[in-house]
Amino acid sequence: MFTGDCLRRFGLEQTKVCIIGAGPAGLMASIHCAAANAETAVFETNTTAGRKLLLTGGGRCNLTHLASPDEIVRSFGPKGRFLSYCLHKFPPEHVRRFFRELGLESVVEKDDCVFPSSDRAEDVRDCLINHAKNLNVRFYFDKSVKRITREGSFFAVHTDREIIVAEKVIIATGGLSFPQTGSTGDGYRFAKELGHTIVEPRASLVPLVTRENWPGLIAGTAVENVKISARIDNKKITTAGALVFTDNGIGGLAAWDMSRHLTDRLPAQKPVEITIDLVPAMNETEFEAYLLGLFAKYPKRTIINVLFDLVPKKLAGFLCRRAGIAEITGSQLKKGYRIKITQLLKKLPLSIKSTRPIAEAIVTRGGVSTAEINTKTIESKICPGLFFAGEVIDVDGPCGGYSLQICWSTGALAGSEAAK
Ligand SMILES: Cc1cc2nc3c(=O)[nH]c(=O)nc-3n(C[C@H](O)[C@H](O)[C@H](O)COP(=O)(O)OP(=O)(O)OC[C@H]3O[C@@H](n4cnc5c(N)ncnc54)[C@H](O)[C@@H]3O)c2cc1C
Repeated sequence: MFTGDCLRRFGLEQTKVCIIGAGPAGLMASIHCAAANAETAVFETNTTAGRKLLLTGGGRCNLTHLASPDEIVRSFGPKGRFLSYCLHKFPPEHVRRFFRELGLESVVEKDDCVFPSSDRAEDVRDCLINHAKNLNVRFYFDKSVKRITREGSFFAVHTDREIIVAEKVIIATGGLSFPQTGSTGDGYRFAKELGHTIVEPRASLVPLVTRENWPGLIAGTAVENVKISARIDNKKITTAGALVFTDNGIGGLAAWDMSRHLTDRLPAQKPVEITIDLVPAMNETEFEAYLLGLFAKYPKRTIINVLFDLVPKKLAGFLCRRAGIAEITGSQLKKGYRIKITQLLKKLPLSIKSTRPIAEAIVTRGGVSTAEINTKTIESKICPGLFFAGEVIDVDGPCGGYSLQICWSTGALAGSEAAK
C-alpha cells in the first residue's frame, strides 16, 4: 500500500488525476481537470494524441450534431438515459462555444452535422492538445498502461517501466474498433480488474455482409443518398444516407446506421431482408411518372442511358443487365418493364447475413456497464475515485457526430468531477 512516506522513499511520481488515453474523451477530461486546478497526467500508447480523431468524418471531423440533449438521449436507445445529465451539462451548443473560444469555428452542414470551418480533424486535435498543454497537463506519450491497482486511498498506474501514483483515475481508452489507432480494449480489462462488469463488445456502425455475391461485382460504386428499410421484430426500421457497394456487401452511412439494429441478432439468427430505395426523393407513383417523361423525351435511348440520370452509371448498367432489360429502348417500354425498373430502383432487395468484424466498425457497442457508473459524476459505483469517459462506456449512437458528442460530454464531466 502507498503512503506519503513510501512515495517519498521510492521517489514514485504522483499526480492528483491520471487519465489513460489521449483520444477525444481523454483530452476533454484532461482540460476540465486541469482547468479546475487539479494536477493532471495523461498516458497514451501512441506517440501522438487522437489518432482515431484524425480519421473522423473522412478527415474533416463531424464533431457534434445540432440536436437537443433530449433528442440525443432518444437516439441512443434504452441506454441513452444514462447520458442525459452529462449531455445537459455540456450539450452540442456548449461544445461549439468551447471550440470557438479556442479559436476553432464550426459550421452546420447537411442533416445538422457540425464540422470545423477549417474542414480539418487535425485542427480539432491540435486545439485540444495545445489547450491542455497550456493548462499544464503532463503528457506521457509512447507509454502504454499495463495495469491499474488500488492501493489504499491511491491508485497505482503501471506502465512497463514506471508506476505513477494517483488519487483519481479516468479510463478513456476507447473501444475495440480500428485497433490500429490504439484502442485495443485495454480499458475493459482495467475496469474488470477493478470490479466492473463488461457488457460484451460488438461491432456497431459497421459495413454489412450480404448473402448475395453481386455487390462485389460493383464494389466501390457509391450512391449519395439512399434509404434502407428492414422489418425487425415487426417494426419498420429505415435509415438514410450514402451507400457504398463493397466486396461482400454494403457500407456507407445508411448501411452503418442499419447495422446498429442488426448487430445483436446476426449472425446467430436468420438473415435479415432489407430493401434499398435508390431514389428516395420520389415515391413510386412519382418515380413511374418521371420515368415515362424521360422515356418520352428520349425514345431512342436504351434504359441504361436513361437511368444514368438517376443512379451511377456502373450501378444502372449492372442492374439493367442483371434484369435482362439493358437493350430495351424507351419506345419499346411496356408497363411490365416499367414496374420492373421501379422495383429495381425503389425496392432493391438484399439479404444481410452478418456484420463485418468489430475492427472495421466505426464504434463499439458494449463496454463498461452503465449500471455501475454514477450518471451525475461518471464515477464508478464500485471503485471510488475511478471515472470513465468516451467509448469505453457501454453506450453507442447513430452516425452524425453523436459519438464524439458523448466523448466531449462524458470527458468534461469526468474531468471536473475527478478534479474535486
Ligand atoms: C473511421 C472513423 C470515423 C469516425 N468518424 C466520426 C465522426 O465523424 N463523428 C463522430 O462523432 N464519431 C466518429 N467516429 C467515432 C469516434 O472517433 C470515436 O467514438 C471516438 O474516437 C472515441 O473516443 P475515445 O476518446 O473514447 O477513444 P479513442 O479515440 O479510441 O481514444 C482512446 C485512446 O486511448 C489510448 N489507449 C488505449 N489503451 C491504452 C493504454 N493501455 N495505455 C495508454 N493509452 C491507451 C489509445 O491509443 C487512444 O489514443 C469515427 C470512428 C472511426 C473509426
